[in-house]
Amino acid sequence: MRLDQPKVGNLLKCPYCGNESEFFEISDDVITTTHYIQNKDGSFTIENKNSQSLGDVKLFCGNCEEDLTSFHQRFSEMIF
Ligand SMILES: [Zn+2]
Repeated sequence: MRLDQPKVGNLLKCPYCGNESEFFEISDDVITTTHYIQNKDGSFTIENKNSQSLGDVKLFCGNCEEDLTSFHQRFSEMIF
């Protein structure tokens, strides 16, 4: 089943339960790159962490856990 994109409003809202505050994303085949800086005492501090997904990315409602992947493009455009 494919859901229509909402026409008005700026908030992504789960069409199943009405949740509009919590969502989670599951990514396949993720490559995580972590940059470290070595300190003068030999310890390391994480400077930056990037992850890139090579596979499918799915979006789910954080409340009812329904699949909201049809909203994913809009979701990813609104991450700042
Ligand atoms: Zn929901």
